[in-house]
Amino acid sequence: MSLVSLKEIAEEAKSKQIGLGAFNVVLLDHAEAFVKAAESAGKPVILQLSQNAVKYHGAFEPIAAAIQECASKAQVPVVTHLDHAEDVELCRRAVDFGFTSVMYDGSKLPDDENRLTTAKVVEFCHAAGVSVEAELGEVGGKNGVHDPSARTSPEDAAKFVEDTGVDLLAVAVGSSHAMTTRGAVLDNELISRIAEVVSVPLVLHGSSGVSDEGIVKAIKSGMTKINVSTHLNVIFTTEVRRFLAENPEIVDPRKYFKAGNAVVEAEVRRMLTLYSCGK
Ligand SMILES: [Zn+2]
Repeated sequence: MSLVSLKEIAEEAKSKQIGLGAFNVVLLDHAEAFVKAAESAGKPVILQLSQNAVKYHGAFEPIAAAIQECASKAQVPVVTHLDHAEDVELCRRAVDFGFTSVMYDGSKLPDDENRLTTAKVVEFCHAAGVSVEAELGEVGGKNGVHDPSARTSPEDAAKFVEDTGVDLLAVAVGSSHAMTTRGAVLDNELISRIAEVVSVPLVLHGSSGVSDEGIVKAIKSGMTKINVSTHLNVIFTTEVRRFLAENPEIVDPRKYFKAGNAVVEAEVRRMLTLYSCGK
C-alpha cells in the first residue's frame, strides 16, 4: 500500500524541515516518470492532477485512474492530489475516486465565501480521510500575467487555517505560476513569519520560476510542499525539439516521448533529492 495521506507526510517533512516535491501529471507518461524518479531517489512524491488537466482530457476518470494505478503500485509513498480545483463537485469526485488529497482553490472568491466553501470541502474530505490544501493570497500567473507582488499576511493565514481546518496552506510569497525562467525572488523573511504563526505545512506554488538555491532557502525558512510543473514542461519540450531536429525522419511518438520522459525523470529525481536536504 503506497498511497498515503498528504497531511501525514507533510507534517513529518515540516518537523524535519525538509521539502516534498509535487509534480503535475498531464499525460500518463508523467505519472510513470514521476513514480520511477521517486523510486530511484527513495523519496515520497505527490502526483498532482489539476482541474485544467481534467478539462484538457474532457473527463476526470481516465487520467485519474492512470494516476491511482501508478501510485498504488509504487515502491515509495505516493500522494494522489487534485490541484487547483475551483469546482467543489470535482473535489467530491476525487474523494470518491480514492485520491488522498485535494486542493480547493477559492482564492478568486470574496474572502468570506472562500472561507465558508473551503470549510465545507474540509468537512467532506476529512470524513473520508482526505487531506485538504487551500490558497490564501492569490499566486498569479495563470493568465500569463506575472505579478509576483501578492503577499499573504501571517495573521490572515493563521486565522484562515483556524476558520477552515485545512491541512496545508499555499501562500503568496513572491512566486508566480507558469514562469519559464527561474528568476523569481522569494520573501524568505515572510515565509519564516508565516511558518511561525501557522500550524500547518506551507505550500509554494509557482516554484518553476525559482532557482534551486531559492527553493532550498524557502524550505529552510519553513516551506514544505514544492509544486513544480512549468519547469518540467520546459525541459521536456526542449529535449523533444532537439530530438526531432536531430532525427527528422522519426514519426513514432514513443521515440520522442521516450527522450523527453528520460530528462523529466532525471530532473525529478534530482529535485526530490535536493528538496529533502534537511537543515
Ligand atoms: Zn499552483
